[in-house]
Amino acid sequence: MLAEIKGLNEECGVFGIWGHEKAAEMTYYGLHALQHRGQDGAGVVTSDGSNLKIHKDLGLVNDVFKHANFNELQGHAAIGHVRYATQGDGGIANIQPLLFRSQTGSIALAHNGNIMNAYKLRGELEHEGSILQTTSDTEVLAHLIRRNGSANFETALMEALRSLVGAYAFLIMKENKLYIATDPRGLRPLSIGRLGDAYVVASETCAFDLIGATFEREVIPGELVMVDHNGMSARKFAEPEPRTMCAMEYVYFSRPDSDVNQVNVHASRKKMGIELAKEAPVQADVVTGVPDSSISAAIGYAEQLGLPYEIGLIKNRYVGRTFIQPSQELREQGVKLKLSPVRGIVEGKRVIMIDDSIVRGTTSKRIVRMLKEAGAAEVHVRIASPPITNPCYYGIDMSTRDELIAANYSLEGIAKLISADSLAYLSESGLERAIVHEELPNQGICKACFTGNYPVVENQGQSPVTLTIK
Ligand code: AMP
Ligand code: SF4
Repeated sequence: MLAEIKGLNEECGVFGIWGHEKAAEMTYYGLHALQHRGQDGAGVVTSDGSNLKIHKDLGLVNDVFKHANFNELQGHAAIGHVRYATQGDGGIANIQPLLFRSQTGSIALAHNGNIMNAYKLRGELEHEGSILQTTSDTEVLAHLIRRNGSANFETALMEALRSLVGAYAFLIMKENKLYIATDPRGLRPLSIGRLGDAYVVASETCAFDLIGATFEREVIPGELVMVDHNGMSARKFAEPEPRTMCAMEYVYFSRPDSDVNQVNVHASRKKMGIELAKEAPVQADVVTGVPDSSISAAIGYAEQLGLPYEIGLIKNRYVGRTFIQPSQELREQGVKLKLSPVRGIVEGKRVIMIDDSIVRGTTSKRIVRMLKEAGAAEVHVRIASPPITNPCYYGIDMSTRDELIAANYSLEGIAKLISADSLAYLSESGLERAIVHEELPNQGICKACFTGNYPVVENQGQSPVTLTIK
């Protein structure tokens, strides 16, 4: 059960819009831009001021909305979600947004992150008579709001948010209002924009660019933003803690054209490559990156060393990300399906292969073999982030510790396992330099999967390793 709950809200994307006559269509486009954040399911809930309507299903955004009747999803407001479930119940009940109807009105919820104390809260709610309909940690918020008993929804919501421990970017919609909230450390990204008179909100700013919206501001950690026909207002539901934006959003997860906490993802990845080249140069003929997420870092690495950057690997666009296949065996096949070497580029060359990260080691191992089979004389692997030695409890699928190759092998051991002629990772300080811009406000990153230093723990004072999440 615990594993199920953990798996359900991993690596998701949220989008919302208020005050637009084509709210459902705009959400559909916005979700397209966020498709990389989740490919297992998608959905939308719209409001016309008196009714909430829902359309959701398993699959990619295009598949899900192929069967949507936009005429039936009329309304001036909508929230949407793309979901990436790596374990647990992959059924439709857990696809978001979740919609709860009652005599006093409906609530729709869309969530990116992971509620660490969901299991405990579910137990308490069930003990008090709640019947939970999903295995999703997100549902807990709806029940906490209801249980509160306050006549004022805003008060009930703020109290419910205060009882959550973990990482969250929440969109909550009622018939007449949209509520937006992030956890007090702002672990997951969430930005607000404008599209004419309408307000938009999205996990990543690339969704604004696609629909022609302009960025207005980040949601401040611990803040509850409310949008209705009177416009936008905000309240603090918790004291903000020092910001710890997920570093993996920059390393791997977000799209390069997005700005996360006001820092462009491509620019930060390129800087990771530059820092990596300064820290771990190697003599070679050509630098190549693994498409798409490590191209920016490879360009930075090559530029810093004055080496040619070449396209040594081609991605087959129509195969999903490797992690979608659940078993190790299928994952390995996925890598073969996903990438092909460019023989003319690598044959007879000393190749530097840049990847953004190593989790289990599957991708690097396959790629080194692939490049060597295509005739590469040497393959030097450079990783544009530090070794991942700890699991993530904040909503990114990062395996259990025994599956993390860097938690179980030395640098030499990993190099040997993946058959690399040499291997080096970016240092923690190099990663920090690449992301954190001292001159900007509210900077600061979570690096817990690299350091084991968790910014939020379920029971303060206990080692996070003992958390009963997995
Ligand atoms: P692995 O093959 O297990 O070592 O995974 C590393 C590869 O997966 C890298 O090429 C990354 O681009 C990608 N990756 C890193 N973190 C994640 C994640 N949380 N979910 C899916 N893919 C990831
Ligand atoms: Fe991101 Fe790693 Fe922190 Fe998880 S532990 S939030 S993946 S930086």
